[in-house]
This record gives sequence, C-alpha cells and structure tokens, in this order.
Amino acid sequence: AAGGADPLLDGLNPAQERAVTARGPALLIVAGAGSGKTRVLTHRIAQLIRDREAWPSQILAITFTNKAAAEMRERMEALLGSGVEGMWVSTFHSACVRILRRESERFGYVSGFTIYDSADSRALLKRIIKELDADSYGFTPANAGGKISRLKNELTSVDGYRATMNESDPRERLFVEIFSMYEQELRRANAFDFDDLIGQTVHLFRSHPDVAAVYQRRFRHILVDEYQDTNHAQYSLIRELTRPVEPEQIERLVPPVRDRELDASGRIPAASLTVVGDSDQSIYAFRGADIRNIVEFERDFPGAEVVKLEQNYRSTQNILSAANAVIGNNFDRQEKNLFTTAGDGAKIVGFTGYSQHDEARFVAEEIEDLHREGVAYGDIAVFYRTNSQTRALEELLIRSAIPYRVLGGTKFYERAEIKDAMAYLTSIANPFDPIAWSRMLGAPKRGIGPMAEAHLANFQEAQGISFHDAMLRAAEVPALGPKLRATVLELGGLLARAARMAAGGGATDDSAEAAAPAPVGEVLKLILDETEMIEKLRARRDPQDDARAENLEELLAVAREFDAKQPGAGLVAFLTEVSLVAAADDLDDSSGTVSLMTMHTAKGLEFKAVFITGVEEGLLPHQMSVEEVGGISEERRLMYVGITRARERLYLTLASTRATFGDVSVAMPSRFLQEIPEGLIDWRQSPGEVTSRGGTASRALNAPRGSGFGGAGSGGSGSRARDSAVSFSGGGGRGSGAAAVAEPASGNMQSALDKWRERKRLAK
Ligand code: ATP
Ligand code: MG
Repeated sequence: AAGGADPLLDGLNPAQERAVTARGPALLIVAGAGSGKTRVLTHRIAQLIRDREAWPSQILAITFTNKAAAEMRERMEALLGSGVEGMWVSTFHSACVRILRRESERFGYVSGFTIYDSADSRALLKRIIKELDADSYGFTPANAGGKISRLKNELTSVDGYRATMNESDPRERLFVEIFSMYEQELRRANAFDFDDLIGQTVHLFRSHPDVAAVYQRRFRHILVDEYQDTNHAQYSLIRELTRPVEPEQIERLVPPVRDRELDASGRIPAASLTVVGDSDQSIYAFRGADIRNIVEFERDFPGAEVVKLEQNYRSTQNILSAANAVIGNNFDRQEKNLFTTAGDGAKIVGFTGYSQHDEARFVAEEIEDLHREGVAYGDIAVFYRTNSQTRALEELLIRSAIPYRVLGGTKFYERAEIKDAMAYLTSIANPFDPIAWSRMLGAPKRGIGPMAEAHLANFQEAQGISFHDAMLRAAEVPALGPKLRATVLELGGLLARAARMAAGGGATDDSAEAAAPAPVGEVLKLILDETEMIEKLRARRDPQDDARAENLEELLAVAREFDAKQPGAGLVAFLTEVSLVAAADDLDDSSGTVSLMTMHTAKGLEFKAVFITGVEEGLLPHQMSVEEVGGISEERRLMYVGITRARERLYLTLASTRATFGDVSVAMPSRFLQEIPEGLIDWRQSPGEVTSRGGTASRALNAPRGSGFGGAGSGGSGSRARDSAVSFSGGGGRGSGAAAVAEPASGNMQSALDKWRERKRLAK
C-alpha cells in the first residue's frame, strides 16, 4: 500500500488497491475466481465510511445471498471496529421488499402483502390451469410458471407479451390467458411472487419519479457483487437507481435538498456505481442472467474505469491449473491469466466407485482422513449437480457419524408441516390470500372439502370481504351444512383472535397509541395449541411424524428468536424475513459440520477441501443442457465455479453405475474430466480400473472420447440400463464379464435422451 500506513490497503496488490481507491462515477472490476473481488468490495465500502466520504445510510451493497450479505457486514464491522447501522447490505430481493413495503400503498397493495414462493405460485397456477382446462394443451404449473418467471425477469408484462405474440397460435393465446389470470389473482390476493419484487420496484420507480428520487438521492454509492448473474430486471433496477435527480423532483424532497448536494447543472448527481464480476462464473442463465450486463458495462456507464485482478489468493496452482484448463474450452470468452504464488500443493484426487454408494463410501472415508489430519469439518464441502444425489451421501455420512448439513435441498421452510403452520401466519397477516387460506383449511384435516371451500370462496368474492370475514359469516352460506358451518365458524373465530393479537390490541394503524403487537411466538403458539398440530403428529407414534412435530417446535423457536432479536417488529416483518431465506442461507452456523450443497449454491464460497461428486456425462454436464444452445458452456462454467471453491484439496469423484429414475444405468466420465491435464490428477481408482463386484474390467478414461466404460450393469435379468439417460454405452450384466460397447457419445446420447423422454411420457 502507498505509504504502507493504511490498514485497509495492507497486503493488497496494486490492482486491488486501485479497485479500493478509484473514485470515478463507475467502476467495473473483472476478475477470475478467488482474486479478491468480494474482498476489495468490502474494503472499498469500509474506506468510504472510515474516511467520511459517505454515511453508512448512503451505501447500498448488493450480494447474491443473504448469507453473503451477513458475512460482508460482519467483515466490514471488523474492519471498522464499529457497527454500520443504516447501511443496506442485502440481496436484490431483500432491498426491493424493503422499498415495496415502504411504498406499497402507491400500488393499491396493503403493506402486509404476501410474498409467494415458487410452491405458492405453482399452487395458484395449478388452479388457473385447471380452470382454463389448459392442461390438455400441455400446460403444467411448472412450464407455465417457468415461462412467466422468464418474462418477468425480462420485465415483460401481460400486455407487452400480447403485443408481440403470434396471434394465430391457440397455445400462445391460452398462455396469455394464464399469465393474465395469474397476475389478476396475485393482485386480488395482495401478493407478489418472487420475480415481482424486482420488477414491481422498477415499475414503481418508472411510474413515480418522486419515489425514485428519494432513493436516487439517498444511495450515493451502489456496489454489486456477482454482477455477471444479474438479469434484465435487476440491471434495470440499477439503471433507475443511478440516474441523477432532476430539478423538478428536487423541490419535493424531504428533508430539503441542500446546495452542496447539487452539481453545476442544479441536479443531484448520479450515485457512483461499482460492480464486480467474472463472466466465467455466470451460471444462472436459466433464470435470465445475462452476461451482456457485464460485457456492455462500459457502454452503459460512460466514463467507467475497468480494473482487472489476476492474482488468485485462494487456491493452489494444481487446482488453478485444472480450473484454467476446463474453462479454456469455452470459446466465447475473454482470456484471463490467473496465477498464484501459493505453490503446486497436493494433486487433485480422482475416484470412481462402482455405484453411488461406493462413491459415497469413499467420500466419507476421505473426510475422516482429512479430519484426522486436522482439517475441521466446517472446512470441508461436498458438491453435487442435482439434489437427488444427496441421499446416498447422507446415508454414508450418518453411518460414519460425520456431522453434516445440507444447504438448500428440501429446505426447512419447504417442509409440509412448516408450510402448514406458515399458512396460518400468512393468512393472519393477509386475510385476502387464497393460497394460504386454502392450505390452512386442510391442515390439519377438519372435513372442509373442496366443495365447501368453493362455496366459501364464492361467497368471499361476491361480498368483497376477506376470507376470515367470510368464515365468520358462514351462516349466510346455505350450501354448508350445520356441522361444517360450526367448524368454519370456530376456525374463523380462532383466526380473528390471532389477527387481533398480531395487530396489537385491535388497532389497525401504526398510531403511537396502538397497543404493541403480540410477539410472533405467541401468535404461533396460539395456533399450534388450538389446532393441536403437534399433539396430533405425536399421537401417531411414527418416527417421521415425530420429526415433523420437532420441526414445528423448531419453528416456534425460530419465531421466539426473532421476537428477541427484533422486539415489536411483528408478524409481517417475520414473514418477510422467512420468505427471503434463500438457498444458501441456513439458520444455524456452519462451523463444525461438513457442508453439502449443489454447485449453484456454492458460488462465492470457499473451503479448504472440496469434493465434487457425480462428475459424469448426463449429470455434469447435465443431460438437460446437452440440447440447449450454450448449455454445455454454462455447465462448464459451473464446473469451473466448483473447482475454484477449493483452497488446498480437491476431489473429483464419480460412479460407474448410478440409480436414477428407479433404474440403474451405466455412467460415463464427464468430458470435463478429460479436459483436465492427466498429470494433475492422482487416480485412486480410475474409471478404467473399475470392476464391478462380478469382476468386469473395462476401458480407460483417457481412451478416445466417446468410448465408455463398462463394468457393473444393472444385473443380468431385465437390464434396463441401456435405455436410461446416462447410459451412453451399453453395460454388461453384472458378472457376465461383458465389456462395454464403445459408441460415439453424441449420437448415443441423443438416442438415450429420446428414449428417456419417451419413457417419461408413457409414465404420465
Ligand atoms: P469468487 O470469484 O469466488 O467470488 P473473489 O474474487 O470474490 O472470488 P475473494 O473471496 O474476495 O475472491 O478472495 C478469495 C480469497 O483470497 C479470500 O480468502 C480472501 O480473503 C483472499 N485474498 C484476497 N486478496 C488477498 C490479498 N491481497 N492477500 C491475502 N489474501 C487475499
Ligand atoms: Mg466473491
């Protein structure tokens, strides 16, 4: 560092130092993995605050996950030796929710709006598709939802889509119907889906320049990590936030604008923008992420300075060389020169099991060895491409008594019993939400069937009242028999009681006189007690139901913790927090446990030892990517992200047979393995050596591409290996001694895919 005196610059290389100290209107930091992008972003903010160039409240820092946000805040506080209250360090979604909650009345939404997660959206779409009879046209909640999500990420509205679609296509017209109804229903439910959070904020800023001006003025420094994975909506949000405030808006701002805030032309100048990213790590194209945002940055933000970081501080040379070799096969990229001074380090370890259980056994044993060597469990991670791969791994980890946790996957909040309890809380906060209401009616079962539900819903709609009020007026719904009426009235009464508690002494506004809202834990406790959800689960004496009861108790603990942390924040704040918990976020802390996660979730993280499992064709690259334009390149970037998470030890494992879709199929090593120079990998058991228990030998990994390896098949009788998606070479039956039949990978892969699809179709 210049002068060597500034602790915030201590140890940074010259490019990093420039990235911290540059002060132009816009700064783009492009660099490969592990080169200190996140670190310089953190130091840059710390310097701005320490040197009084900005107040914490004038800074907006965007990270990819809530966990990354928490870490950045922590680091910053450590660097500054003080808290940074008022600073927004958050994901795009969290930042937008905060804005929408403040400004929601401008939309005709109530601030207690519900945020629909993808399961809620799918539930809503399911009804719509059924109502429109759209399933006969091949629409499913998943495919319609996926398309709607992509459109929203592109900021395309129903009308916008209608204007450009092919009118003569009946399927298109039907889709517009679905989309349009979905939007209407969301509005009626006082709900936003996840994509809306960003799109609606952009819409708010564009339609209300006075609102935009408040935030354009407030945030003087905007910093975005992982910029390569921003989609069009997120990009647009950044554009809106980095406009200067025009004179006509300035007069209306409170507190009044002071002269020193203005530039020579009488405007409040645009916020300064810093983005960091690595186009080689763009792995969210399927969610609309657009590398162009980074490529075109200099055009979009004239006067931008570009800083490149080339030294990697995370990994050993062997790991880095493997990463460079793999990503070098993507042709449409800018060459990067990543280097390290860390030394070669240990070789990468390769292993092929004869089954996924054998692979898992190896992983568990190696983890134990690492642990004995002194590597903490918390410093070890196991990655996989799809969540379905966890089961075999978990079994072996449990058996070996290795503490672990799964990030993402079946998240706590996606479990059925948790969603049931949350449906009550959601409905209490937003009694117009039909999805929460409907879920709640049937949890636990109380005899309110679909007919009764429909009668109530019709009554609710006709009267224009909330679902709770409709229940309290069940006597006016003649179609309900006396017994049902009593059930509905009782539940309505419980909800009314809980809602009064949550709102605080019956007050419905924020006036200072209103009694404080009850803690969320108390509201939840009332619901759990009155519905006897926990008792009913316990009474079944089934270990799985016991686990469910424990989950509900855990939820109660979560609510109480929230109450303790944010006294008086209330139910809506709690629901918001819960709905924003993203895949990489977990409630408990990670020290002391091995982390299992998908490679998508691993972005931005680092571990001393990393296992990448299932490095096979069909899994990594995933079969779905094969037929998509650019699909393989994206999978290769994913592999690059995975490899570059490792600091010192990297393991690449695969299995020669794998059970998928209920079938056992023969797997072929991933093409990405062949892209890694042979000398970097120390094969403990190479694909060539794999023998099934029956003793079948087969071809070596480094045989010409397209040659498979045989070995264990699915058993002599009824071998269905051949028509499975990952069976690129026919497998010999176990014990038959038959060697693999080598066939060109591509052609065989295509036909395997076709067959797999056909089978899926027949299964329906
Ligand atoms: P990714 O692309 O994976 O997000 P990144 O570019 O954000 O990586 P960081 O996570 O900021 O990289 O840094 C990688 C590792 O290198 C971290 O452990 C960080 O503390 C360390 N590091 C970065 N710069 C330096 C430096 N100048 N001296 C020592 N360690 C450094
Ligand atoms: Mg980073």
